[in-house]
Amino acid sequence: MVLTKYKSPEEIKHSLGDAKTIAVFSCAGCANMNMIGGRRGLKFLNEHLEKWGYEVVVARALIGCCSAPVMEHGVNAYIKPKNSRIDALIQISCVAGMKNANYFNPGLRVVQAADPVGVEALLPHGEYYSDHGDNLVAYGLCYNCEHCVLSFTTGICPYAECPSKSLYGFCDHPPKAGSRKCTRDPGRECVWKVIEERGGDLEGLKELKFIHDDDGYERIPLISREPSADFKLKTVGFLGARAVVPFAETVHFIR
Ligand code: SF4
Ligand code: SF4
Repeated sequence: MVLTKYKSPEEIKHSLGDAKTIAVFSCAGCANMNMIGGRRGLKFLNEHLEKWGYEVVVARALIGCCSAPVMEHGVNAYIKPKNSRIDALIQISCVAGMKNANYFNPGLRVVQAADPVGVEALLPHGEYYSDHGDNLVAYGLCYNCEHCVLSFTTGICPYAECPSKSLYGFCDHPPKAGSRKCTRDPGRECVWKVIEERGGDLEGLKELKFIHDDDGYERIPLISREPSADFKLKTVGFLGARAVVPFAETVHFIR
């Protein structure tokens, strides 16, 4: 899941500039599961906007603001009929939703309510899975460094956990013999020590670095497919912007 967090009230107000009448789109996908979007996030932000003196003219949750058909349907159904009364659109979503909102609303100021802060596993907040207890694996964020090494690190992300962002093994100043402390940040354990003790494949990583550094590195191409017919796109747009939204709250059952 793409992890997003609200920006500060000051930043949102600053981004709104002189706008007074606001439309809000709230993504009922990842942002919903992050507890910032969906219907709850919409209600929460609307209450704040009204307290701050703005008039909320349109407030809608859409499932998957990153999807062009969903955003297009949302804009046609909710923004266009009230366009002349809307000064700015606030987007509660990841960057993909933000880009889509700009793409389908040329000329309208689109303001981001949230920042993307990484990718995380979708873990319930309760005790049900707590016996796994592997916090470095479970709660470490991914920052999309492009060449993932988790196959060799027992699921721990060294890019996120090592202050040197050393991806293929210990940094140039590893802990001294008998120590477990990170030499750059003695307040924490060296994550490469942890990876080593968990059985990470440090030899394999050396080879992997050669593979990643090769200028001729070629990814397996995408699976080619025919573009969807217009009626399929429109159906998806309708479902995501209207029909399925009432069920979006069920995503919270997985937390
Ligand atoms: S190594 Fe870490 S930051 Fe890089 S892609 Fe993998 S999980 Fe993400
Ligand atoms: S001591 Fe370990 S955690 Fe610290 S910077 Fe070096 S490799 Fe990274």
